[in-house]
Amino acid sequence: MKKTFIILAAATAVLAALPFTTACNRNAQQGTSKYVISATYDEKENTLTGVTDFTFYNSTENEISDLQFNIWGNAYRKDAKFKPVSDALASKAYYAGTSYGGETVEKVEGCASWEIGGEDQNILNVVLNSPVYPEQTAKVTISYTLDLAKINHRTGVTASTVNLGNFYPVLCAYSQEGFIKTPYYSNGDPFVSECADYDVTFTLPKQYTAATSGKELSRSESGDNVTTRYELKKARDFAAVLSDKFKTVKRDAGKCEVTLYYCGDSEPKREMDAACESLEYYSRTFGEYAYPTLSVVFTPLCVSGMEYPALTMINNTLDEADSVYTIAHENAHQWWYAMIGNDQVNCAWQDEGLAEYSTVCFFENHPSYGFTRTSALGGAIKAYRAYYSVYNQIFGKADTTMTRNLGEFASEYEYVNIAYNKGLLMFEAARSAMGDKKFFAAAKSYFESNRFKIAAPEELVSHFAAQHDIEGLFTSYIEGKVII
Ligand SMILES: [Zn+2]
Repeated sequence: MKKTFIILAAATAVLAALPFTTACNRNAQQGTSKYVISATYDEKENTLTGVTDFTFYNSTENEISDLQFNIWGNAYRKDAKFKPVSDALASKAYYAGTSYGGETVEKVEGCASWEIGGEDQNILNVVLNSPVYPEQTAKVTISYTLDLAKINHRTGVTASTVNLGNFYPVLCAYSQEGFIKTPYYSNGDPFVSECADYDVTFTLPKQYTAATSGKELSRSESGDNVTTRYELKKARDFAAVLSDKFKTVKRDAGKCEVTLYYCGDSEPKREMDAACESLEYYSRTFGEYAYPTLSVVFTPLCVSGMEYPALTMINNTLDEADSVYTIAHENAHQWWYAMIGNDQVNCAWQDEGLAEYSTVCFFENHPSYGFTRTSALGGAIKAYRAYYSVYNQIFGKADTTMTRNLGEFASEYEYVNIAYNKGLLMFEAARSAMGDKKFFAAAKSYFESNRFKIAAPEELVSHFAAQHDIEGLFTSYIEGKVII
């Protein structure tokens, strides 16, 4: 996400025991879970009705008896305990007054039983018919309806578009303690998920265009609707933005086809330059971009931008300079979040800090955009020191530790200064200590070793420490001991 910044009218949990057989397959394909999603948008009802055939591949070393999915859409419901948007941003987000949505799971087939639970009706728990052993698969089919709130946010209907981030049940990432169940936090990006393959089909009113994470495979019209099928491999999410007002412009960046989606009369040329040049710069500097397409989508948001694999949402009210900066930042997340995952709930600095610092490096190498490394560092130091001074006054002592649960930040202001600004300053300090050659070799090595995985912070530090005696510097920043 870029700085500034969340389902339902649904029935609550329905408990059902359905006597279907879990399909186990000992010859698992490619060792990757797969989502086959078919979803239909109803513009009159503001709903998306979906069916997901989910094939779970057990890549853990444990026997798995139940699967747990995030139902992110439920954060938008009226009685949600964890609000998707902070009070500070609510008026920007709810452009037509307070509005609610929600996500109802209607049935799950291929399992012994299922229920909706979690801290805030945010988890779908599916009990399998029989355990899935390592390297085996199991398939379940989930039917659901997403009721979309009128909100300028990741998931919602805006005045000109339909933002479909986190629209389907997403398998929780698995850790040594089991599936990671996280409620929605208005701070940051509370999503942790494993890479999987996607086969997604949208049926829309035919005047609509869909910007998606996937590569288009086929398209057909029937009556008033158009049905389009997309494919995306090795991605930890799949997002889309719909509109009946989109114009598009395309350009190739290396092997990737970049498409900008925008409404209005002014073609975003400089923004397209930034999208393509940053994609090429990060590919050269860290490692090759993995996906065949990238959709850069201008859409109403209450924050500056939001990243998904192969798709970024960019706030359509930013001026050209802020758009360019946000595009460079969100594109960096294709490396730090999409291809290299991390625990965004507890270690947000890991992707946000690296994304911010990668953005600085991009502009340092592309001075024509008018941003300099010096000004970026100066801005981060000034903002961080102001935060530190204010929070020292308010709390007696500012908490400057970086590895923290999103729920432990007192405000978005604190979150931004710790995850983004202090994160940026930490990587700058490391680069200054190591020198450019070792610093970028370490970043490349971290990328190469962790593609399509979720990397722990210690893993990140180890790649820099392998190049230079730098572990103490990272520790002093992360533990809040360094004075900035
Ligand atoms: Zn970000």
